[in-house]
Amino acid sequence: MTFKELKLIAPIERAIEEKGYEHPTKIQAEAIPKVLSRKDVLGIAQTGTGKTAAFSIPIIQLIYQIDGNTSLHKPLRALIVTPTRELAIQIDENIRAYNKHTHLRHAVIFGGVKQNKQVEELKKGVQILVATPGRLLDLIDQSYINVEDLKILVLDEADRMLDMGFIHDIRKLLKIIPKKRQTLFFSATMPDDIIALSKNMLHKPERVEVARKSSVVDTIRQRVYYTNKEDKVQLLHHILQSLKKERILVFSRTKHGADKLVKKLKKLGHEADAIHGNKSQNKRQSTLKNFKNKTIKILVATDIAARGIDIKLLKFVINFDIPNLPETYVHRIGRSGRAGEEGMAISISEPEENVFVKEIEKLTKKKIEVIQDHPFPQTTKPMTAAEKKEWNKEKQRKKKEFFENRRNNKEKRGKKKGR
Ligand code: AMP
Repeated sequence: MTFKELKLIAPIERAIEEKGYEHPTKIQAEAIPKVLSRKDVLGIAQTGTGKTAAFSIPIIQLIYQIDGNTSLHKPLRALIVTPTRELAIQIDENIRAYNKHTHLRHAVIFGGVKQNKQVEELKKGVQILVATPGRLLDLIDQSYINVEDLKILVLDEADRMLDMGFIHDIRKLLKIIPKKRQTLFFSATMPDDIIALSKNMLHKPERVEVARKSSVVDTIRQRVYYTNKEDKVQLLHHILQSLKKERILVFSRTKHGADKLVKKLKKLGHEADAIHGNKSQNKRQSTLKNFKNKTIKILVATDIAARGIDIKLLKFVINFDIPNLPETYVHRIGRSGRAGEEGMAISISEPEENVFVKEIEKLTKKKIEVIQDHPFPQTTKPMTAAEKKEWNKEKQRKKKEFFENRRNNKEKRGKKKGR
């Protein structure tokens, strides 16, 4: 399948070419024609599949065909509702790229920052608006957004939206916007409450399904290091040293844990920063920017903050803890190896988490490669003080042996090269 076959208008084709995309991803190939023929779409797909372009590109084309780019009056035509600020910003960035030569007016609004700048944008007229639910309803209430001429509604990451408690906001929104509209509904999973919501919102939808939440793309290599709780930071340090030049996204279960880990990593000489819900919106954005432009190499993130983070060519994701929900693991490692690129997911498991690794393997139906050869191997049963002392001695010995072997191997390789 080529983009040519999707019958896109020339300015959009040009923008896609400039973005460097050669072929549409599966969801794009399936969804774009359906959206262009004005069908409602039920998309079961997670981020990383190219779903943003799958809805953004045909939306730009439809609006361009309705309004052209010359009309002075620019009513709101498409509304894209997404659960997190990071996702909203990312979708808007995508739209900016695909809209480069169509010049439709678009904007993004989200909470946690002052509304003035967003209101200024809205006043200029916006045809495509990306929004998080709270700020959207707030600005509709204040009459800064007029939804009368709306033609298309996109509900993105519907399952996350419900998890985050936005169901009332969505219901409220549905009461305000025109009943006669095209609706595109995207969710990574389809639990009962999501099926019910989709039935309520969609009219004879066409279903498009790509890579369920339980599937890990084959381009991501998975590894697990079994270790002890108290050795995790040292083991992470050891792994990071071997990945020196790379950018790495490290997951932490808690916000507090993320901050603590950043402190420890900094002490060990790594450039690291954390991103989570307790950081201000501006701080989160500047951290993300620093990570994207490689000013910082290591980003420690919680699950909610990381959802939707899309970083070009992110190869490494490290699970500093193993999530107790295997689906969370699938989401986490989906941050690497995006749209066919190669990725590597490394997990660090302490004894209590071993069972989660098994659950992940069961869900994904894939074995995770166990790395045995490292200086901090796991001890399984609780130890007495004497055993612990003995164990520590043994550990020091193994550690020494490991580094000696590595040095010897390096020397051998060096000699070979020199020959
Ligand atoms: P998404 O699932 O929308 O978050 O997209 C994941 C990543 O894939 C983004 O970095 C996109 O820029 C990229 N992408 C989307 N469509 C294509 C394509 N057809 N070819 C290559 N990369 C793509």
